[in-house]
Amino acid sequence: MPTALFSVKLMGRGTAEIESLPSYIHRCSIAHGSNVGSLLQTVERLIPNTHLCLKGKLKAKNFKPHDLVRPGKLVDELVYSFSEATGEPLDSSVLWILNTVLGRSQGEVVKGFRWCPECFGEMQRLGFESYFKLIWHMSSVAACHIHRTPLIQRCEACDCDQTSYKKVTDIGYCQECGESLSIRISGIDSDQLISSWEDLGNDVVQLFHELSLVDARSLPEDGPYKSVNDLLDYYWRIDREDIFYGALTRDQMIALSCRDKSISMLTARRIAFRLGVPLFAFIAGEASQTSGVLDHGLFCTLPEGYLDVKHKARKDHVDILKKLECAINEIEIPITAKKLCQLAGVSTGYLAYRYPQIYKDVVQRRKNYDEEEHLKAIYRAQAAALEYFFQERYADQPKSRRQAYKQLREETGLPKWTLKNAIQIAYEALNGNNV
Ligand SMILES: [Zn+2]
Ligand SMILES: [Zn+2]
Repeated sequence: MPTALFSVKLMGRGTAEIESLPSYIHRCSIAHGSNVGSLLQTVERLIPNTHLCLKGKLKAKNFKPHDLVRPGKLVDELVYSFSEATGEPLDSSVLWILNTVLGRSQGEVVKGFRWCPECFGEMQRLGFESYFKLIWHMSSVAACHIHRTPLIQRCEACDCDQTSYKKVTDIGYCQECGESLSIRISGIDSDQLISSWEDLGNDVVQLFHELSLVDARSLPEDGPYKSVNDLLDYYWRIDREDIFYGALTRDQMIALSCRDKSISMLTARRIAFRLGVPLFAFIAGEASQTSGVLDHGLFCTLPEGYLDVKHKARKDHVDILKKLECAINEIEIPITAKKLCQLAGVSTGYLAYRYPQIYKDVVQRRKNYDEEEHLKAIYRAQAAALEYFFQERYADQPKSRRQAYKQLREETGLPKWTLKNAIQIAYEALNGNNV
């Protein structure tokens, strides 16, 4: 179906690295050679919307990235309009969970855009279009969970924050001075690498990962309350309500168990962290099913770095990246993820975890390639079979299916069933379907 705008793909779909709506809108503007304001107005004009809450506001106001990640009237309307205009579903590009399951959390979203220069560097080297990840908008995440490097918010060369509506270059380059945003001018020392559990926001990263596997808005809205009550039941049964109340204050926990207070993201994180329940399970109302955690029955004082993934053998990521880059860019036929991993000397698990975007892309490209090859084989088989039964060249050959198969298999080397099906169709055509 033709769409009003070019279909620009939402990056990182189905992974914790999903692109944010403001990033998508800015990228769309670049793809259409437009500035963000004109693009918004065009979409508003092309996609009639019943809410019309944008009417007139677009000219008056520049929407900042943080206005575009929290669900609400404006964002819902933009998600709807852009999904319609580009044919690309965008529900998962915003922090929908803050509106449905978790009450209005304040201070969860940072102002403007933030980025990890190392991630931009990898996107550029691997030939992906640069984009801002949704998770980079979360104030609880101070560093890139992949590189452990601090996120930055302004071009180090000219101090531009990249939020302007005027778009002159790819997202990976500064809109003001053109410097690559993958370069840390001030450099970084190894002691600046972030390792603490809190600064990396590992619970939020894990949550994003799990949210990417479920449908947007599929979580029960009372999930957190259900978890609170199940946890209270559990600690009451073992006669340790003190542990339960200790997660926040007694009054606050009572208010939550009576549903008198909305649960913000920060509250959910604190309770889940202190009672040792995975954040996603807590939010999804599945705290009682994390029995392995609850059985300890003790207040969790997690040491720093407790939830960090510890790698037994340190991998040379730079070397691996180089090998991946070569394999992706230099081999003409799209290779399978398994083959790519063999060439780079890593497991498919490593590729899927460390470079989910590449992993999905390689799998998809190979799938498309296989499908295309399969179609080509079918066409080739069909052409050969028709030729066998109808062309002069084979006039002397007996017109039996068995003979056709024998002859064509030898000539074309096409797969058995592709050939047999094609021969059957040609044979039926020869005999006027009366077979
Ligand atoms: Zn990074
Ligand atoms: Zn700059």
